[in-house]
Amino acid sequence: MRCVIAGGGPAGAMLALLLARAGVEVTLLEKHADFLRDFRGDTIHPSTLQVLDELGLAEEFHRIPHRKAYRLDLVTDTGTSRLADLRGLPGRYDYIAFVPQWDFLTLLTSQAAKYPSFRLLMNAEAYGLIRDGGTVRGLRYRDGDGEHELRADLTVAADGRGSVLRAAAGLTPTEFGVPMDVVWFRLPREDTDPGETFLRLSPGRLLVTINRESYWQLGFVVAKGDAELLRAAGVEELRGQVGRLLPFLEERVTQLRSFEDVSTLTVALNRLRRWYRPGFLCIGDAAHAMTPVFGVGINLAVQDAVATANIILREGPSAVRKVQRRRMFPTRVTQFAQRVAQRQLIKPVLAGSPRMSRVPDLARMPVINRLARTFIGKGVRPEHVAMR
Ligand SMILES: Cc1cc2nc3c(=O)[nH]c(=O)nc-3n(C[C@H](O)[C@H](O)[C@H](O)COP(=O)(O)OP(=O)(O)OC[C@H]3O[C@@H](n4cnc5c(N)ncnc54)[C@H](O)[C@@H]3O)c2cc1C
Repeated sequence: MRCVIAGGGPAGAMLALLLARAGVEVTLLEKHADFLRDFRGDTIHPSTLQVLDELGLAEEFHRIPHRKAYRLDLVTDTGTSRLADLRGLPGRYDYIAFVPQWDFLTLLTSQAAKYPSFRLLMNAEAYGLIRDGGTVRGLRYRDGDGEHELRADLTVAADGRGSVLRAAAGLTPTEFGVPMDVVWFRLPREDTDPGETFLRLSPGRLLVTINRESYWQLGFVVAKGDAELLRAAGVEELRGQVGRLLPFLEERVTQLRSFEDVSTLTVALNRLRRWYRPGFLCIGDAAHAMTPVFGVGINLAVQDAVATANIILREGPSAVRKVQRRRMFPTRVTQFAQRVAQRQLIKPVLAGSPRMSRVPDLARMPVINRLARTFIGKGVRPEHVAMR
C-alpha cells in the first residue's frame, strides 16, 4: 500500500509514523521549511501521552523540556476557583504536558524517519488531487523545483483547517459560530510569579495564562473581529489591560513593544458532513476545526490518526468511511462541549456580565470533577495503537 499525507501537523505526523512502522510506503508533505510555529496548541493530554507510551516513545517525549499541569484554575476579581483537577485520572498519566509543538512534531517525524518506507518532503505544498473517475489516485504538489505528481492508494488531507485538498475534493465544512479570536504574545516570567497555568477572568476580559517556565504565554481573548479594534487602539491599551488583569506583570508589560510582538489567531469551529471520497480521507482540523477551548485540538487530531491507522492497516485503503464512522461521535461531543463553554462562559464574560465574576469550585464537586477530568484528559472514545 502507498499513502501520501498532506500536512505535517499533529494528525499527519502521527499517521505517517503509524503507517511507516507498519511497513506502508508513506510520503508526508509539509508546505513550510520547518515545524516552527508559535502560539499554536502546545498541550499534550493524557490520551496522547498514552498513545506515545504504546509506541514506546513516552520516555523520549518526557526528555523534551516540558511543564506538567495537573489542574486548571480560574482567577476572577474576587478569588480563585478550581475548574478541573486531573490528579486521580485512571492510567499512568494524570497531567497535561506543555511542550512546544515543533518539538512534538520533530519527535514524531524523526521516529518515522527510522523506517525505510517513510519519506518527508518539506517545502512541499499540495495543491490538487489526481483523479481517475470518482477515485482519488494521489496528489499534485509544488516545491522549489516546480510541480510534481505523487500517486498513492490513499491520499490523506491533514493540511489543517484551511485544507486545500478538502476543497479540491469538493468537501465543504459546516461552520458553527465562534464568539472570539485570540491575541497571543509572551512576557518574561520570574520565579516569584504564580506557578500554575490559569484563566484570568474579569467582566469584559478573559486572559489565558500559560506558564512556560522562562516566559508567560498569554492569550488575550477578544470578541470576534475586535482584534483589529485592539490593534487600532495601540499597544498601550493592550499593556494596560494586561497590567490590570495581572498586576504582577504591570512593570513587565512594557516589554511588549508593539503589535509586531503579537499574533492574532482567528478561531474557527466547523466540521465536514462527509470526510472521504474513494481513495481520499480528511482527518484532524481538515475534517473538524477545533477552538482552543479545553486545548483538545491536537489530541483529537492524534486520535483521528490512530483510528485511521488501525482501520486502514486492518481493512485496507477502501475503508475510509469507517474512519469517519468511528471518529464522528467524539468530534460531535467535543464540539458540542466547546459550544456550551462558548455560550455559558466566554460570550457572557466578553459581554461584561458580572454574573461570571463568581464561579464555583467545580473541582470540589466529585461527580463534576470526574466528568471534567475524563473529558479533558482522555477525551471521548480514546484510541489505542492496535499494532504494538
Ligand atoms: C489560537 C489557537 C490555539 C489553539 N490552542 C490549542 C491548544 O492549546 N491545544 C490544542 O490541543 N489545540 C489547540 N488548538 C487547535 C490545534 O492547533 C489544532 O486542532 C491542531 O493543530 C490540528 O492538527 P492538524 O494536524 O489537524 O492540523 P494543523 O496543526 O493545522 O497542521 C496542518 C499542517 O499542514 C500544513 N499544510 C497546510 N496546507 C498544506 C498544503 N497545502 N500542503 C502541505 N502542507 C500543508 C501546515 O503547515 C501544518 O503544518 C488551537 C487552535 C488555535 C486556532
